[in-house]
Amino acid sequence: MPIYKAPVDDTLFLLNDVLHFERYGDLPGFADAAPDVLAQIVGEAGKICEERLQPLNRSGDAEGCRLSAAGDVATPAGFEEAYREFVAGGWVGLAVPPEYDGQGLPYTLAVVMNEFASAANMSFAMYPGLTQGALAALLRHGSEEQKRLFAPPMAAGRWTGTMNLTEPQCGTDLGLLTTKASPREDGSYSITGQKIFISAGEHDLSENIIHLVLARIEGAPAGVKGISLFIVPKYEVNPDGTLGARNAVRCGALEHKMGIHGNATCVMNYDGARGFLVGEPNRGLNAMFVMMNEARLGVAVQGLAQSEVAYQNAATYAKERLQGRALTGAKNAGGGADPIIVHPDVRRALMEMKAFNEAARGLALATALDSDIAHRSEDATARQAADDRLGLLTPVLKGVLTDLGFESAVKAQQIWGGHGYIDENGVEQFVRDARITMIYEGANGIQALDLVGRKLPKDNGRAAMAYFAEVSGFIAHESSDEMKPFVEPLKAALGDLQKATIWLMQNALAKPDNGAGASYDYMHLFGRVALGYTWARIARAALDKKKESAGDGAWLDAKLTTGRFFMEKMLPETSFRLARITAGVDTLMSLPAEMF
Ligand SMILES: Cc1cc2nc3c(=O)[nH]c(=O)nc-3n(C[C@H](O)[C@H](O)[C@H](O)COP(=O)(O)OP(=O)(O)OC[C@H]3O[C@@H](n4cnc5c(N)ncnc54)[C@H](O)[C@@H]3O)c2cc1C
Repeated sequence: MPIYKAPVDDTLFLLNDVLHFERYGDLPGFADAAPDVLAQIVGEAGKICEERLQPLNRSGDAEGCRLSAAGDVATPAGFEEAYREFVAGGWVGLAVPPEYDGQGLPYTLAVVMNEFASAANMSFAMYPGLTQGALAALLRHGSEEQKRLFAPPMAAGRWTGTMNLTEPQCGTDLGLLTTKASPREDGSYSITGQKIFISAGEHDLSENIIHLVLARIEGAPAGVKGISLFIVPKYEVNPDGTLGARNAVRCGALEHKMGIHGNATCVMNYDGARGFLVGEPNRGLNAMFVMMNEARLGVAVQGLAQSEVAYQNAATYAKERLQGRALTGAKNAGGGADPIIVHPDVRRALMEMKAFNEAARGLALATALDSDIAHRSEDATARQAADDRLGLLTPVLKGVLTDLGFESAVKAQQIWGGHGYIDENGVEQFVRDARITMIYEGANGIQALDLVGRKLPKDNGRAAMAYFAEVSGFIAHESSDEMKPFVEPLKAALGDLQKATIWLMQNALAKPDNGAGASYDYMHLFGRVALGYTWARIARAALDKKKESAGDGAWLDAKLTTGRFFMEKMLPETSFRLARITAGVDTLMSLPAEMF
C-alpha cells in the first residue's frame, strides 16, 4: 500500500530558516503565526492528511464518483466524513479574513496545507481547493452584499465553489465562449449554456455549490472583451442566507477520465439559471484571473505534491526491493541480492526527485509569501515588488512544477519496475493523477506564452529586471568558499537566462513566432534558475544552522549534498535550453501542415 508522510520538518525549516517568517510579523495574520503556532498548524495539517485523506486515495480512485438519474453525484465512500473533519478543523477558511468567518492566517499556510492534502489525496483536496479559489475572486471583485452572503458559508466549508470557463468549443480560447446571460427585471440574469470539465461541479459534500460562471450578456461584444462573471448558486440564497429553491443548473454527465477519479468532473447544464453579476459587465475575465492566478499556484503545488508522494514511495521501495549487487561489493551479503538503492541509476532518479521536491517546495512557499505581501503589506514598494515577482513566477511555477512533478511520478513508477505498472501497488495512480496538472488551469504551453508574451514585457520588463538583479545581488553577496558550489553554477545559469531574454528582445518583436516558439524552453530555463536560486538560499540557511549547531547535523548535511547535486546535475539544463532558444524557429515552422 502506498505511504505518505507529510514533510513537516522540511516545511518548517523553509518557513523559519529560509523565508524568515518571523520578519513579517507586521502583516495581518502573521503575528498569530509565531514559530510555536506555526509548528502546531503545520503538524496538524500533516496529521489530518496522513491519517484521514491518504487512506482514501486508493479506494477513491478505484470507486470514483457516481451520477444518479436525478443528477446528484455521490463522492467515493469516506469522502463525506473526511470532508466534515477537514471543515471542522477550519482548513477551508484558514487564510480568509476573520470578518468573513475565516482564521485570517497567512495564505502561505493554506499553500502548505494544499501541498500536504494534494499529496495525500489530490481528488479530495480539489473540493476545498476550488472553494478557496472562488472565494478569492469573490472577495476581490464581489459586492459587499455578495461577500456578506456567500463568503462566510464558503469559508466554513458549508458551501463549496467551482469555476466554469470551459465549453465544448472553447478551452484555451475563451473568446469563443457562448454561454448567454439575459438580464431579468429584478437585476439578476438568466444563464443558459453548457459548461464541460467542471471540477467539483456537483457532489454530496456541501449544502450548496456556488458556481462562478463566465457568460456573455446579450448584445455584449464578441471575443474576450464581452465576457462577464456570474455567481450561480445550486440552491438560491435568501437575503438572510438561508437556502431557497433549486436553481436551474444540473450536472448532465460525469466525464470518464485518466485520473483524479475521486473528483467529480462534470458537464454542467445551465437552463435559465438565476445568476448574479460579479463586478462590472464585460470585465469577467479580469475577475476570473484572480481566481486563475491563485488556482495556478495551487496546481503548481499539486505537481510538487504528486512528486513528493511518488518520491516517498520510490525511496521506500528502493530500500526494500532486492535485485542485483552493488558494483562496489555486496551491501546485503546475507541476502540473495542488494536493495536497488545501491545502483547509481536508481540513485539518479531518486536524487532528481528529491532535489526537485525540496527546491520546488521552497519556491512555492516563497511565491505564496509574495502573495501575502502583495495583498497584505502597507508598504507600497514592498507590495509592488512582491506583486511583480508573483506575476512573473506564477506561469513558471505552474508550467515547470507540473511538468517536473509528472516526470517524478514516472521516475517513481520506473523505480518500481513492472510492479509500478500494476495498479494494485498504487504507484501508477500518481502518474495518472499528476498528468492533469499539466493540462488544466491553462495548458503548460499557454503558461509559457503568458510568461514570454505578457509577463516578461509587462511594465517594460520591470519584474524580470528586478528578479535578475535580486539573484545577481545574492550571488555577489555570497562569495564565500562554502557558498561557491552553489553560487558559481547559479551565476552561469543566470547568464543563460539573461542571454535568452536578450535574444527574445532582439528577435521576438520583429518575428512573433520566435517568441512563441522559444517560450516553452524559456519557461523551463527560467524555472531551473528559480529552483537553483532557491537551492542557494536553502544552502545559506543550512550552513548558518550548522554553524549555530542548531538542528540535526546529518539532516542539514543531506540538504547541502542534495543542493550540490541540483547545481551539478540539474541546473546545467539551462545551457541546453538556451541553445534551443537561440536556434530560432525556422525548422520548427517551415514544414507545411500537410507534411504532418
Ligand atoms: C479533469 C479536468 C478538470 C478540469 N476542470 C476544469 C474546471 O474546473 N473549470 C473549467 O473551466 N475547466 C476545467 N477543465 C478544462 C481545462 O482547463 C481545459 O481542458 C484546458 O484549459 C485546455 O482546454 P482544451 O481542453 O479545450 O484544449 P485546447 O484549448 O483545444 O488546446 C489543445 C492544445 O492546443 C494548445 N493551444 C491552444 N491554443 C494555443 C495557442 N494559442 N498557442 C499555443 N498552443 C495552443 C494547448 O496548449 C493544448 O495543448 C478541466 C479539464 C479536465 C480534463
